[in-house]
Amino acid sequence: MEIKITRATTLKEKPDSSALVFGKAMTDHMFIVDYDAGQGWHDPRIIPYGPLPIDPAAKVLHYAEEIFEGMKAYRTADGSIQLFRPRDNIARMNGSAERVCMPQIPEALALAGITKLVEVERDWVPYEKDTSLYIRPFMIGLDPALGVHASQHVQFIVIVCPVGAYYPEGLDPVKIYVEDRDVRAVKGGTGMAKTGGNYAASLRAGDMAEKAGYSQVLWLDGVHRKYIEEVGSMNVMFKVSGKILTPDLNGSVLDGITRRSCIQLLKDWGYDVEERRISADEIFAAAESGALEEAWGTGTAAVVSPIGELAMKDKKVTVSNNQIGEITQRLYDELTGIQWGRVADPHDWIMKL
Ligand SMILES: *Cc1c(COP(=O)(O)O)cnc(C)c1O
Repeated sequence: MEIKITRATTLKEKPDSSALVFGKAMTDHMFIVDYDAGQGWHDPRIIPYGPLPIDPAAKVLHYAEEIFEGMKAYRTADGSIQLFRPRDNIARMNGSAERVCMPQIPEALALAGITKLVEVERDWVPYEKDTSLYIRPFMIGLDPALGVHASQHVQFIVIVCPVGAYYPEGLDPVKIYVEDRDVRAVKGGTGMAKTGGNYAASLRAGDMAEKAGYSQVLWLDGVHRKYIEEVGSMNVMFKVSGKILTPDLNGSVLDGITRRSCIQLLKDWGYDVEERRISADEIFAAAESGALEEAWGTGTAAVVSPIGELAMKDKKVTVSNNQIGEITQRLYDELTGIQWGRVADPHDWIMKL
């Protein structure tokens, strides 16, 4: 399928790449492809960035018939541009689509849309250290009818924006609150899917935590309210007595690509990685006995995010003396090294543009 390109007649001024705010400075163009039941995907196009015409009855506006992805394009030292495991994002999007009855998008079509848009916007991929072009593919259900059914008309859209280092002051450990009221996802629900409604469900706890001086919440499982699932919108890992622990993909935990990559690197380095059920009590006990050596979150936006303090009800523990731990730092250096092309890519994770 050929992608039709309509260029914007006036181009925006690019923001100062030393002061980028996450997700704000959208570029000049976007990619759209339509899907209609019976016809399939059609009319892939790159058009000037701008508001979408949308019927007020469109299902996405009422029933969160929406799925999305998050990935980045990186500028290497020689000026070229590369993506990190983009096929994994597309496969995950198709997994999310299956869960919420949206159509599968062929890998080649999604990848063509993403790479063509990045090529059109190549001047927007920033050069400054730790900056990148954030890529947000998403799919929305557009049938203009209030009945609760899967849409017959759907769009897959890609927008992109330059982003800076997630933590401009460096990898500062964050304070995390173990959420004891709200849950993000439950078994049988949509926790494994990157679908809009999950994030609406997470807003209140995030808000409360922020007001109490924490940067994120640690989510517990929705049944026992005991087992650790994720931290904010990141996966979470712990180093306890030399071993790495991370919650298993039990159906309510998002299958993060950064998580996957960290597990592979840790195994390469000879660590035992246990993917299993981990209770918050186990982690607090390990912290109190001194066995908890490091804790960190993993996700595309921040790569890894060290945890310096954990609070649960009236208990509070410090992790790694509120410093970034050795493994957390090593994972950050290795992953960002591969992503920006500074170190070898032994697992074939990089796709050059
Ligand atoms: C996107 C996301 C992650 C991280 O996934 P990556 O592929 O590593 O970016 C983790 N948890 C949730 C809830 C997410 O939405």
